[in-house]
Amino acid sequence: MGEVSRARSYQVSAIVLRQRDLGEADRIVILLTRERGKLSVVAKGVKRARSKLAPALQLFTHAHLQLARGRSLEVVTQAQAVAAFPRLRSDVERYACASYTAELADAMIEEGASCEWVFDLVESTLAALDDGGDMASLVRGFELKLLTGLGYGPELERCVECGVEVGDRAGGFSAVEGGVICPRCARGGAPISEAALAGLRGLLRLPQSDLGGKKLKESVRQELERLMRRFVDYRVERELRSAAFLPK
Ligand SMILES: [Zn+2]
Repeated sequence: MGEVSRARSYQVSAIVLRQRDLGEADRIVILLTRERGKLSVVAKGVKRARSKLAPALQLFTHAHLQLARGRSLEVVTQAQAVAAFPRLRSDVERYACASYTAELADAMIEEGASCEWVFDLVESTLAALDDGGDMASLVRGFELKLLTGLGYGPELERCVECGVEVGDRAGGFSAVEGGVICPRCARGGAPISEAALAGLRGLLRLPQSDLGGKKLKESVRQELERLMRRFVDYRVERELRSAAFLPK
């Protein structure tokens, strides 16, 4: 344990993933922090009208927080918003995309596991969604980058059955087996078009900040939505509640 963890209070960069009420005035806030990964903290009095903490602790907000050691959970003592992302709370479709981003990160990340790249990925996805970026490209890009970075991403280059490189044309894509299947091994699995495979590779390769400006062809968008829905549900091992509200 370093110096930071022995201190009575310390600062973090955080994004609010989720919150729930605690008694009449307080909330438990589930944060994704850059320094300490996922963290549940107590925000006292945050439901009161004049709470100084409340503006920086709204859902999806990126904030600098000071946390103090509590008896069980840390307590927020100061909060300053870095980016409020207001459009994510006022636009229904963008709210749904942001909720899904937060829920998938929440489902895949263990409490306390620190990973700066996950924080940066979530932050850049929310920022681009707030900025009016293409929702389908950003959501698919987020799924691919998060799962791939954690070691659960789809295999997009080699057949998951025989290991041969599939090149531009795969015979199929299997959510259960975890990626592309070559034409020789494909037997009645879900097909994948050349454009969809190229789309997946592009969404994984390009940074999120570039994806906001990329609009997928409608047929490719629909194909990737079906394919990635099955793939993500299989990896998460449960259905994500917010997935049902994503824009169609
Ligand atoms: Zn094969």
